[in-house]
Amino acid sequence: MSQYDYDLFVIGAGSGGVRAARTVADLGAKVAIAEHQYLGGTCVNVGCVPKKLFVYASHFHEDFQAAKGFGWNVQQAQFNWTRLMAQKNQEIQRLQGIYGNLLDNSGVTLIEGQASLIDAHTLKVGDQQFSSQRILIATGGKPFIPDISGKQHIKTSDDIFALKQLPERIVIVGGGYIAVEFAGIMNGLGVKTTLCYRSEKLLRGFDDEVREFAAEEMRKKGIDIRYNTSINAIEAFDNGLIAHIDNQQTLETDLILYATGRTPNIEGLGLEAIGVSLKDSGAIKVDEHYQSNIPSIYALGDVTHRINLTPVATAEAMALVNELYGNRFTPVDYEHIPTAVFSQPNIATVGLTETEARKRYSDIDSYKSVFTPMKHTLSGLNEKSLMKMLVRRSTDQVLGIHMVGPEAGEIIQGMAVALRAGATKSVFDSTIGIHPTAAEEFVTMR
Ligand code: FAD
Ligand code: NDP
Repeated sequence: MSQYDYDLFVIGAGSGGVRAARTVADLGAKVAIAEHQYLGGTCVNVGCVPKKLFVYASHFHEDFQAAKGFGWNVQQAQFNWTRLMAQKNQEIQRLQGIYGNLLDNSGVTLIEGQASLIDAHTLKVGDQQFSSQRILIATGGKPFIPDISGKQHIKTSDDIFALKQLPERIVIVGGGYIAVEFAGIMNGLGVKTTLCYRSEKLLRGFDDEVREFAAEEMRKKGIDIRYNTSINAIEAFDNGLIAHIDNQQTLETDLILYATGRTPNIEGLGLEAIGVSLKDSGAIKVDEHYQSNIPSIYALGDVTHRINLTPVATAEAMALVNELYGNRFTPVDYEHIPTAVFSQPNIATVGLTETEARKRYSDIDSYKSVFTPMKHTLSGLNEKSLMKMLVRRSTDQVLGIHMVGPEAGEIIQGMAVALRAGATKSVFDSTIGIHPTAAEEFVTMR
């Protein structure tokens, strides 16, 4: 008999927590998971899933326009936000049910409520106390809003997913994933969209050409992108909100969305009291085994604030499970993490940017293709795609692949397999294309 109630106690039933809990339970261990808000975590409830549904919804605006060029007569299309929200909520409920079943079927005990740590092996949820041999913290992150006057008027992405009414005008602050994705969503849904970014180019960390190209495409679709623009105060007035910009200008709008990053969700966990080491950002410090400075306490996913993506959280969960319960060390390959921004058009990338590649090696060839996607030859829409490949001349190895264009995420997922397998440019060149597609550009770049 174990001296503990559980072999593993997971805090947070999001992407990483659920994957770890059910996989460990499937291996025969006694597992509990605590969740205080919603099964499925950020991704299912206020992240990837509802966001992508909104992206689909907003894209119809262009699809109706494009249809005319292909012979269709489309009557005045009308959009109903309430119906979209109801549909979205129904789908989320379905997914929450699936998550519940997955845990149930694996024999994981679900404990509803906010968990906090008492010591290295003891936790509390409400007035219940539990002990566990190991504790895994997978509590994710939450939106960060800087301190400014009128902060109470600001909305975050969490709020947008519960919005009762679509605004006529929106100001979005930030230049990262969420700002860029929501700018596309709102603009597509007919909201007058202004994007205020504090610096010069959106999407820091992405390839520079991709950043410039994507911003230009977004502008062509009607998004008002303002660089070097910071808001220092917000005021409410009869007809909405006024944002005061630091160059003395003002912006009138109905809704202000701050997409200025996310911070690790550690509030109320009692980490300081038991001495869990944190980074300045509040992220839990872990080593390559996801172990904190307290040996029985582990953490992964957004609460460690490294690469905040769902597939990374689930991959980390699998690496942890394999090592602790399967005696296999299967570290996550952080070098080749593909990622997509579901902007309009999509952006997707894997491997090194041109700047990173040139910093690392002196012999980089950059291949690039800018073209009008075939659909837009008749659609009447003025949208272009960019594809880019970075190759190290001396080894012929492909180091980075980048795309701005329709379905970039779908295309780059396949490219990521090739990159991870160490594909050379010659392998790409000798691969037969699928015609006519955009993806075939990657095997015909010369
Ligand atoms: P989470 O999924 O956040 O789960 C943490 C869970 O812990 C939550 O359910 C929370 O309620 C619970 N919790 C917290 N504290 C406690 C406590 N004390 N007790 C009990 N429960 C607690 N990633 C992608 O890969 N693709 C995308 O397209 C994408 N889109 C996104 C869009 C938005 C708007 C946002 C905000 C994020 C998006 N992400 C996307 C990121 C992705 O959602 C996260 O990286 C992922 O959800 C992290 O998983 P996690 O397990 O670390 O935490
Ligand atoms: P990001 O870190 O991507 O971007 C934050 C943005 O806010 C940056 O442009 C940053 O500017 C700016 N910013 C930060 N602080 C301030 C401030 N005080 N004032 C003004 N601007 C500020 O965060 P997001 O909130 O967009 O998204 C959080 C994370 O969620 C992402 O990093 C990603 O990991 C994940 N996500 C993934 C998605 C996907 O996979 N498609 C979609 C959505 C989210 P600067 O660049 O100058 O620092």
